[in-house]
Amino acid sequence: MIANVLVMIRKRSRTVVRAALLGCGLMTPYAALAADCPNPNALGTSRTLVVDPKEHPRIGTMQYPETLPLADHEVVLTFDDGPLPKYSNQVLAILASQCVKATFFTIGSQARFNPEGVRKLIAAGHTVGTHSQNHPLTMNKMPLEKVRQEVDDGIASTLAALNGDKSKLAPFFRIPGLMRAEIPEAYLASQGIQVWSADFPADDWRHISPQRVYDLAIQRIEAKRKGILLLHDIQPRTVAALPRILNTLKERGYRIVHVVPATPDRPATPTQPQQWYLHPPTETVATTRWPRIPNFVFTATRTLPAPVLADMDWRDADILDHAQRTRVAMPVRTLWPQPQLARFASVPTMPVPAPDVFRVPEALDLTLLAARSAANRRLVQRATIGVGVSRAQAFSARQARHPKQAAHQGPAPAHGRGHGAPLHVAPPAADNASVHVANNVKKRTPRAEAAAAGKRVPD
Ligand SMILES: [Zn+2]
Repeated sequence: MIANVLVMIRKRSRTVVRAALLGCGLMTPYAALAADCPNPNALGTSRTLVVDPKEHPRIGTMQYPETLPLADHEVVLTFDDGPLPKYSNQVLAILASQCVKATFFTIGSQARFNPEGVRKLIAAGHTVGTHSQNHPLTMNKMPLEKVRQEVDDGIASTLAALNGDKSKLAPFFRIPGLMRAEIPEAYLASQGIQVWSADFPADDWRHISPQRVYDLAIQRIEAKRKGILLLHDIQPRTVAALPRILNTLKERGYRIVHVVPATPDRPATPTQPQQWYLHPPTETVATTRWPRIPNFVFTATRTLPAPVLADMDWRDADILDHAQRTRVAMPVRTLWPQPQLARFASVPTMPVPAPDVFRVPEALDLTLLAARSAANRRLVQRATIGVGVSRAQAFSARQARHPKQAAHQGPAPAHGRGHGAPLHVAPPAADNASVHVANNVKKRTPRAEAAAAGKRVPD
């Protein structure tokens, strides 16, 4: 009984504290602006990352190869589709209570209706990018003119809420519905605007429970261990799930990173190219560590230095000298005539080999086929003299050479010699054998050749 009362008191006090935090946040959403976080147990913002949109125009591994250069267990929070006072203010309060900074992608029409909401985001120290004027889900099919209108109007509407102060608006853009396409991406890049996809959504725009939003967020963050979380500050389920998401992130050792754009006064955070990949290859992956192919400069050189004769001599003077000093038996000098090396030394240069020297001859396959047919021919010869070859083998070999003729003769008897038609296979002359085979091969299709060799070919 006493335990139940204690639990009730504890629950009530927790509710009161939470309500006080939210109320405080709603009344003074800029409370967390103080450099020192009032909540000693807050998740907090671990660092600020400055990025140059022109260096990395598209980020987010849901759609692009690159993402933000985060360390393990670092997460960037993003919120789309606001500002919508009812829920955006609660999201602001929750973030303030945990002293975390996020990036908001505002819709132009929302900013027109609620300019104060945009100013609250800036005043709370968050980064504000844009998300088009009307949130069309067809940007992947839009012509350039329509894309330009949506992007420019969205920026103009948000800027209007900030009294035109461009320094307060980040050149960050998230395509509505992540409906990426080359036209919007190219236009945004031409304007120096960075396209933000995401690394993990929480599906909070779907009709799912806050518990499900929480589960998806945590599971997907844990799967990649770092990246950009995509949420929406206009959804009640997001408001309900966000405190638990932040608490769990803190419990599991995650850190929140605040991203801001580079400016002339604020240079980009130094990074290495591989940091912009979610899981850069490790040192154990050897192939990624090969040096890059150098850019060869081809000149008009028509000759190359002639090889030095000493380079072609296998008799290494150092090895021989070492062998003599250590009394290792030297190779016996035979009576065979020594090779007479050509005298190249008098030629200072040689012509550069022509490109066709390195070309693989097209008749290479014919050479291979010729080798196989020659093997069949030897089989037939052995069969003719009756050395270790059955009639059936001899027949198939002959069929390989003369398939039409063999087809009319029928198969050989299974047993015995002398019961079938005599085999009269004259061996072709050795001199023109290759010519004969080449002509024969030319008349056959690849399928016929394969069939002659006794192999199956897929239909
Ligand atoms: Zn959206």
